[in-house]
Amino acid sequence: MADRNGVPRRKPVPPPSGQQLPEGWASDLTVAFRRKLSTKRMNELTRRSSSQRRSSSRVPTDFFTDNRQPPPLPSRHGFDASSQPPIPSRQAPVSPPPQLPLPPPQAPPEYESLKNLPSIPVAPNDSKSLRFRSMLMSLSNTPCRWENPGLLDEALGVVPLQRIYDQAQEESDLFMAEAASLGPHFKPAWGYQDCVVRALMKWFKQEFFEWVNNPLCATCHTRTIAHGMAAPLPDEQARGANRVELYQCANQQCLSFERFPRYNDAFVLLQTRRGRSGEWVNCFTMLCRAVGSRVRWVWNAEDHVWAEVYSVHRKRWVHVDCCEGQWDTPLLYSQGWGKKLSYCIAFSADGCCDVTRRYVRNPTDHAAPRNRCSEGVLSHIIREITAMRRRDMDKKEKFRLNADDMREDAELRKVIIEALAFNVSRILPGGDGGPRNDPDAQKAAEARSSAVTEVRRGVDRKQHTGSRDPRQQ
Ligand SMILES: [Zn+2]
Repeated sequence: MADRNGVPRRKPVPPPSGQQLPEGWASDLTVAFRRKLSTKRMNELTRRSSSQRRSSSRVPTDFFTDNRQPPPLPSRHGFDASSQPPIPSRQAPVSPPPQLPLPPPQAPPEYESLKNLPSIPVAPNDSKSLRFRSMLMSLSNTPCRWENPGLLDEALGVVPLQRIYDQAQEESDLFMAEAASLGPHFKPAWGYQDCVVRALMKWFKQEFFEWVNNPLCATCHTRTIAHGMAAPLPDEQARGANRVELYQCANQQCLSFERFPRYNDAFVLLQTRRGRSGEWVNCFTMLCRAVGSRVRWVWNAEDHVWAEVYSVHRKRWVHVDCCEGQWDTPLLYSQGWGKKLSYCIAFSADGCCDVTRRYVRNPTDHAAPRNRCSEGVLSHIIREITAMRRRDMDKKEKFRLNADDMREDAELRKVIIEALAFNVSRILPGGDGGPRNDPDAQKAAEARSSAVTEVRRGVDRKQHTGSRDPRQQ
């Protein structure tokens, strides 16, 4: 199974035995590696592409409309964000939190995101829910646009693969040495393929892609001032830009206009190599796919996007924010930036998942109201998208993906139950109320302090704070 997602480790370099390695040894290896990746993707994608085409052309309204659809719950059980937490019923089995003593003096914390626990799917039937459904359906196409073996291969042409594989090998060796030093039963923190994505992110952020707020004037290189939107030119439209921001040079002698087309085609972005989080994550996630990883594109309702990459080594999805250069720091937004999050929905070429619980561990402090639709409706939409993506897969593949989903659900339940237990213990008499001894929280704090350092260095990061201009995504 590791073969399907994981890129096989490179053969170790032969130990120096006095004789030189043949000329071109490394580049031959790179070519062979790329060929292997390409074949792997080809097999995977050709098997899927015909079925994807078939399923995407169907109108996906009939998935849960047969007798599998349960009757709607009484409104008291509707998981509406404005109502109190639902009472778990026999119809909606919810894992009970561990038996903990009740905190007597203070009111117990409200656990909004416990409402994200899988609930009975209910088909959307009001205009607000239908609008949300149609938006999610449309967002769900993003990762499918990358599933083109030819374009993915071409994309690798811009990546200094040899350097990235070398760095990955070096880091992977370090992780192995570290594990070996701890004892025979320790596993390296990350595997080789994880290290490939880490090296890719470093290169992407430091050398390849450029962050643009207001583009500089092309004539005199002075800063520009936002001047509204413009209609896309035929060339811009042909390359997929439906929105073009217009800027005017601040230099009174110049006053030239500068156009900033917002491209959302990852392959076009390989050429333009600039943008904000939307462009960054689109292009970077496609490249992660190109180097053979399973990827997700995560949409957050509070105006941010990021990626998740599946770690075969850790058997779980890993948060990756290429704009921030952050790896496996899911609490960056809530505990690091102090943002409140409502929905974080992950889309991939083979499904859809509500991953909010990974990013919001303490709903009292960091959950924003989830009021775009009821939780039952959201669950229905997510199942609908997943069913659409998996419709024509063979049984074995579906079974494997379902097992992954169940493992992830158990993981997400566990983090919420741990957070619940921690917060209850904190408000009990004698609870320390101090910072949580949680490695994820620790990393979020580190990420925050490194962001502060960068601000001090003069890097403009205001677009990443809660108060940033929503147009700056
Ligand atoms: Zn100018």
